[in-house]
Amino acid sequence: MHVDNGKGSAVVVADGVTRRYGAGDTAVDALSGVSVEVEPGALTAVMGPSGSGKSTLMHILAGLDRPTSGTVKIAGTEITDLGDTELTKLRREHIGFVFQFFNLLPMLTADENILLPLSIAGEKPDPDWYQELIRSVGLGDRLHHRPSELSGGQQQRVAIARALVSRPSVIFADEPTGNLDSKTSGEILELLRHSVRDLGQTMVMVTHDAHAAQIADRILFLADGLIVKQTSGGSAPEIVASMEEIGVE
Ligand code: ADP
Repeated sequence: MHVDNGKGSAVVVADGVTRRYGAGDTAVDALSGVSVEVEPGALTAVMGPSGSGKSTLMHILAGLDRPTSGTVKIAGTEITDLGDTELTKLRREHIGFVFQFFNLLPMLTADENILLPLSIAGEKPDPDWYQELIRSVGLGDRLHHRPSELSGGQQQRVAIARALVSRPSVIFADEPTGNLDSKTSGEILELLRHSVRDLGQTMVMVTHDAHAAQIADRILFLADGLIVKQTSGGSAPEIVASMEEIGVE
């Protein structure tokens, strides 16, 4: 039976979100009224020129920051009313992150980094899932090496595995290929795509790279703190054309 439960099925729902930094004459409206639903089991890309509000939106959708007005629901819980401790707990249970600069702990080996989110919670992974994950990220014999002994691409594979290990409701990837050469970027994008298509992971990727965005199922284009266009994916040339349309040279 098909049950259409509308907004209830989205992993993160933002409604009329604004974010103002500062006050008075120097106030900056980074978001001016954004409503968006993050669809489960899909890869949503957020694109837009520098300063358009991408990072601000990501931080708010991930519960790292709160809106000035409007509401945000993460996995069905309205975050606006939560205290900091409750918000941290919600984030830990439901959100994974992948960063441009990997953010691995240098004194831990690759597999210790991957397992860290679970170790902190005093948990162990399901062995079958852990095996599948390790196979998927393709680190081979590098699992017991420290980050300084790994290439950038290998470090990002570790970071992706760390985000996936607890099967969060959604992973936010912030310019995940921004620090990698084009060949390695292609491999990392393939791994992100695999995480969504084959492992069922919901993902939101912030990027200004059309090559990265072309793996997305859906693309949101931001300009001046507003979603000015949405597409259901597209090729790199089509994405470049959309960026030009919204005013990026
Ligand atoms: P993007 O990620 O698309 O580059 P941001 O979300 O970082 O955009 O920034 C959107 C706008 O908000 C920009 O004008 C930026 O200068 C401003 N902004 C971002 N963070 C702050 C802050 N902490 N204090 C003041 N202004 C900020």
